[in-house]
Amino acid sequence: MRAAVSETGPELKPWIEAIHAYVPGQSAAPDGRPLIKLSANENPLGTSPLALAARADAAGPAEYPDPDATGLREALGALHGIDPARIVCGTGSDELLNLVPLAFAGPGDEVVYVRYGFMVYDIAARRSGATPVVAPDRDYATDVDALLACVSERTRVVFLANPNNPTGTFLPRSELARLHAGLPRQVLLVIDQAYAEYLDPEDDDGGLALAAEHGNVLVTRTFSKIYGLAGERVGWGTGAPAIIDALNRIRAPFNVTVSGQKAALAALGDQDFVRAAREHNRRERARLAASIEALGNLGLRAVSSEANFLLVLFEGALTAEAALAGLAERGFAVRHLPGQGLPQALRITVGTAEQMDAVAEGLRQMAERAA
Ligand SMILES: *Cc1c(COP(=O)(O)O)cnc(C)c1O
Repeated sequence: MRAAVSETGPELKPWIEAIHAYVPGQSAAPDGRPLIKLSANENPLGTSPLALAARADAAGPAEYPDPDATGLREALGALHGIDPARIVCGTGSDELLNLVPLAFAGPGDEVVYVRYGFMVYDIAARRSGATPVVAPDRDYATDVDALLACVSERTRVVFLANPNNPTGTFLPRSELARLHAGLPRQVLLVIDQAYAEYLDPEDDDGGLALAAEHGNVLVTRTFSKIYGLAGERVGWGTGAPAIIDALNRIRAPFNVTVSGQKAALAALGDQDFVRAAREHNRRERARLAASIEALGNLGLRAVSSEANFLLVLFEGALTAEAALAGLAERGFAVRHLPGQGLPQALRITVGTAEQMDAVAEGLRQMAERAA
């Protein structure tokens, strides 16, 4: 592979060559038939009407957007009690996650995350030239002691999604505090809170408080999930001024579009929509989890989730591959992640009540037939 590339042109850096491109969730069957997409954790309620109206209203596209997303950062600061100077916006939180190792790690350094962590961390670590280090899980959940045991004098960054994707598992405040307390001050802890708004406010993991108080914590959040703006690509992060300054220096100058800034600002102002989405998610996730639990004797189980999806494990006669194909026949795309070491599982986004009924019924039929 390497030889072929160098014969015909520029030689790829070996750490770039080791990267496997991100695999997005499918929205069509292998034969091209469109499917209902329960594979990318998008919001089944869509987008706040206020955000849609603001987006349609965005100024002429001939002009560059505000490079600093000033209005959006001010609104985020007001909502979350953060000094806007401590906030940076990104082209999705993915941009910020990718920038962190570029700023704080490089060849010879290590970037740590848990097994079954978010796929982007591996890419982000490798593109900086750093070495990814994967901590073992505990029955799919984050094991703080195992994570801390992976930290060495070469560790520069620890990534943790909380709740985690693709497992949905959650580290409570006390455990997150223990993880942070166990890290040397020169290690940056990135707490990826893409699904934080799905938690009840009293279950907050304390990440924003850690980012406010310590010099080595970055919290990232996104408008892609509960705010229903995945297509606009808006995310943000907060941490100590030195961290925000580093990210500002290396981010793309006009990284959030005019329509993205407008839509996100309006979406923030519609917390009724956010509450409705959280309540819908809690209800439908519980119903889907109960229907999976009822199939426990047939080898199905769902990992306990605080996010807007369930990781369903197939440990009986019905395999994840067969269930993936059967759900596609019934019109649904869900996520199979064999490349992430999860050939035995499917990640299913919480959709509408009707979609969840159809998925649950499909799984029941397939599991009973396979038995
Ligand atoms: C979806 C998701 C994101 C969000 O990515 P964006 O670039 O903001 O769309 C970040 N982290 C995790 C763990 C996610 O699942």
